[in-house]
Amino acid sequence: MKEIYLDKNENPFNIPDAIKEKFIDYVKNADFNRYPEKGLPSLIEGLGRFTGLGPERIIAANGSDELLDMLIKRAAGDIVISSPTFEMYSFYATNYGHSAIDVPLNDDFSLNAPEIIKRRDAKLVIICSPNNPTGNLIGRDSIKAVLESGVTTVLDNAYYEFSGEDYTDLIRKYDNLIILRTFSKAFSLAGMRVGYGMAKPDLMVGLKKLQAPFYMNILSAKLAEIMMENYSLIEEKINYIVRERKRVYGELGEIAYNSDTNFLMLKKDLYDYLAGKGIHIRKLPLVKDRSRITIGTAEENNILISAVREYIKNK
Ligand code: PMP
Repeated sequence: MKEIYLDKNENPFNIPDAIKEKFIDYVKNADFNRYPEKGLPSLIEGLGRFTGLGPERIIAANGSDELLDMLIKRAAGDIVISSPTFEMYSFYATNYGHSAIDVPLNDDFSLNAPEIIKRRDAKLVIICSPNNPTGNLIGRDSIKAVLESGVTTVLDNAYYEFSGEDYTDLIRKYDNLIILRTFSKAFSLAGMRVGYGMAKPDLMVGLKKLQAPFYMNILSAKLAEIMMENYSLIEEKINYIVRERKRVYGELGEIAYNSDTNFLMLKKDLYDYLAGKGIHIRKLPLVKDRSRITIGTAEENNILISAVREYIKNK
């Protein structure tokens, strides 16, 4: 039985060969004995160009996880989250001896902004959009309502590239907003650990003071740069995944929620059933009777669709 891994919202495709070749050329001549250039200016400038925000609004780190860790530590107080959402927010808050105050999403998975705003004692609000695991985008108006309250707000935008919704215009308007993105999903670089954050320059200066000068290894930084320089190759894969997501949702709509990401939340916990067929999906211990599938290659998705259809038929 061929095992299929649709559990971690990874990209099913490795990096394109043309990019691999460029990276190998770099590796052949890299100065491994030297520290990276302080602050990795080439990566930061690349991200500044890529996002259109300029280097002064960019910070990079070893995955967006590291930025979440840093921001939650810096908040030094209770944070507000909206469940069901990414588990790492409460993990870090607990690590630093604080609570993650839960203002759950509404029944339609929209944000309960009025309740969030009432939590005036909170040091940080984290909004995940598109949200993991529900897969939906959070409406701009509710995000703005939270920002208008003045509380420092992290918008975790890890699945941005699959969603078509760009919030970066809000960076110029709000000085209490930090948007986080990652190279782990759309860019196929989960194993290299590269994430980045965007915020107004004043906020960025404060954040960068918390970082070591040599905060990332030269290989991860270089590969991220090459990826951005060859974005059209990445876009092809993003388009493929979005097409497949729509197809899988079309096939399994009665048992899945629609999504703006590279995954779908199922209305049933099919973890054990699918594991028995060699298909590994994500169990959601905090969300009763639900599970999450990552969109894979068309072949993987076909195997998944058949297995789920069989489940529905025999139910
Ligand atoms: N935020 C969300 C919503 C995620 O789903 C993930 C990865 N599962 C991350 C952040 C962390 O991504 P990274 O690999 O950049 O640390």
